[in-house]
This record gives sequence, structure tokens and C-alpha cells, in this order.
Amino acid sequence: MKTAVVTGGAGFLGSHLTDRLLLEGYRVIGVDNFITGNPANLDHLKGNPNYSFIEQDVTKYIDIPGEIDFIFHFASPASPIDYLELPIQTLKVGSLGTHNALGLALAKKAGLLLASTSECYGDPLVHPQTEEYWGNVNPIGPRGVYDEAKRFAEAMTMAYHRYHHVDTKIVRIFNTYGPRMRLKDGRVVPAFIGEALKGEPISVFGDGSQTRSFCFVSDLIDGIYKLSQSDFHEPVNIGNPNELTIKEFAERIVRITGSKSTITFQPLPVDDPKQRRPDITRAGKLLGWKPVVDLETGLSRTIEWFKSRV
Ligand code: NAD
Ligand code: UDP
Repeated sequence: MKTAVVTGGAGFLGSHLTDRLLLEGYRVIGVDNFITGNPANLDHLKGNPNYSFIEQDVTKYIDIPGEIDFIFHFASPASPIDYLELPIQTLKVGSLGTHNALGLALAKKAGLLLASTSECYGDPLVHPQTEEYWGNVNPIGPRGVYDEAKRFAEAMTMAYHRYHHVDTKIVRIFNTYGPRMRLKDGRVVPAFIGEALKGEPISVFGDGSQTRSFCFVSDLIDGIYKLSQSDFHEPVNIGNPNELTIKEFAERIVRITGSKSTITFQPLPVDDPKQRRPDITRAGKLLGWKPVVDLETGLSRTIEWFKSRV
């Protein structure tokens, strides 16, 4: 039986990834300090003999006894509100946390997959974004703490691959949504669903003309699992290329929830990317992967989950 470590294992993506790894026959060790995670995401794993959990801040030295085959490094605040509130922790987990995770991989002769992000492309001047694009990031803006931490994490990961020959992979994750997101994490999907279900005005930032492309969590996890089994070391975009404006997205949520909410326009956050859509040609060719859950289906499942939590 192979052993995988999932840092950020109590988070939205880390917990879904854990479920998939257990299904694939891995023994899983979760590591998390709950800074943005939720212990309830792990409730269903209580009593599972193949799951164990260590409460730890990965910016401190990580000591895990026994053999480890693979590390999925997902620890990091991920919502713009979270990383604006936690700027130093965000920089530290992307830099020190990634260094520690890579050090653990080297010591254990384990593979490592880094959860990177479309934010590496910043406010992109190339559209859709291919992995070759180097990005347009403001290093000193409020989002810089996240973007630059992830860019550093990618550089560190490639250095461990090239210099220490660690078997590393890098996934650039585009906006992903689904059950287990925190209602108040500030990201657009829980924000709009929460407002719609409560009948409150939907808070569109700016004029809502900025675009995003939303991927349902099961599709993302499938792409990440396939990437972990590949022998490719450079970054791979995983996301859904179905792009829409944030105003269209708000209208979609109102329609699917059957809400009477109206739309209000709030100030646009600094450096909010104007457009985002993944080019997933590389993932398709390398992994034979493409998303299969359409937005209506994914949103309906997510709204169902949020209904009992609003
Ligand atoms: P999340 O906030 O739900 O999960 C992150 C987890 O990391 C939390 O459980 C948090 O407590 C933990 N964590 C943070 N700092 C830590 C530290 N120092 N030590 C130990 N644990 C720590 O967010 P998520 O959406 O699940 O994101 C997971 C990963 O995927 C992040 O690395 C994020 O940057 C990346 N990502 C997510 C998306 C998305 O759309 N969800 C997009 C791009 C990248
Ligand atoms: N957004 C919005 N209202 C909200 C939250 C977000 O209009 O309550 C917008 C935000 O300005 C951005 C998009 O929705 O243009 C996606 O925001 P999110 O925080 O989900 O992630 P991002 O893609 O910016 O990292």
C-alpha cells in the first residue's frame, strides 16, 4: 500500500483529494494547521484505518516517521480575502512551507505535486493562458503575497527537481468550486450562492465584465490525480475553459437558485484580473484529461450542499 501526505488536507481541495487517494488505495496522512481549513471536512474519515492526521504548521520543520511515497503540497490560504488577511502566513507557506515539503520529499525519496495557481499569470495579457506564458504580476500589490509566493514555490520545486532529482509535478489550478468551500471564504462561488439563498443583493465587484472559468471539484481532482501518476515535470493547467463574465455568473446563480436577489455593484479589488481562461491543450495531450461536469450540474450540486448551511 502506498502512502501519500496531503498538506492542507483539511481544506476544500485537500479533503476532496484525500477521498480520491483513499479510493485509489493509498494510505493518507493529512497535515494542516486549520488556518483556513475546516475540521468538519475530515469528519467522514474518522475511524478509517487508512487515514491519519497531524495538526501542524508546515512552515515549521515537518517530521513524519515511516515511509512516504508521494506528497501533495496543498497548504496555503487560497481565497483573496484570506490571503489579504494573512499576508505573511501566505508568503511563508508558499516559500518556507514549500521548502519543507520538498525537503521531506527528498529525505523520503518521495514524489511531490505542488498546488500552484492561475494567479501565476497575474492579470494576463495572453488569453487564454498557456503554460508558456510568464504572466503579468504586480509583486507589491495586495495580491502579490499569494502570486509571488506561488511563483517562488514553482521555482523552488523546479530547483529540487533539477538539482536533487526529486520527482516533482506542478499543477496550475484555475477557479474551482464545489461542496466543502467555506460559505464566508470570500470567493465568488460561495459568496453569490450564500447571498442568493438568503435573498440578499448579489455583490458583483466592479462592473462585472471581468471573466472567470469555473471547474467543478471532481473534474479538477481527476486531472490532479492523473498528473500525479505522470512523468511530466513542468506546469500543467487544470481547469474548465468555459468562460463567462462575473455579471453573467451572478445572473446564472440567481436563476438556478430561483432567488429574488437583485445585483449590486461594489468597488473592484486592486489588481483583480480582467480575464481568465485556461488553455488545457497540454493536460489533454499528456493526461487524456478534460472536464466533464458542466456548470449547471456542478452549480446545482454545490447549491444543494450549501442549502443546509446558510
Ligand atoms: P483552503 O483554504 O480550503 O485549503 C487550504 C488549506 O491549507 C487549509 O486547510 C489551511 O488550514 C491549510 N494551511 C494553510 N497554511 C498552512 C500551514 N502553514 N500549515 C498547514 N496547513 C496550512 O483552499 P483550497 O481552495 O482547498 O486550496 C488548496 C490549494 O489549492 C492552495 O494551495 C491553493 O493555493 C490552491 N489553489 C486553489 C484554487 C481553487 O480554486 N480552489 C485555485 C488555485 C490554486
Ligand atoms: N467577486 C465578486 N463578488 C464577490 C466575490 C468575488 O464580484 O463577492 C469577483 C472578483 O472581483 C473576481 C471574481 O469574482 O473578479 C472571482 O473572485 P474570487 O475571489 O472567487 O477569485 P479570483 O479568481 O479573483 O482569485
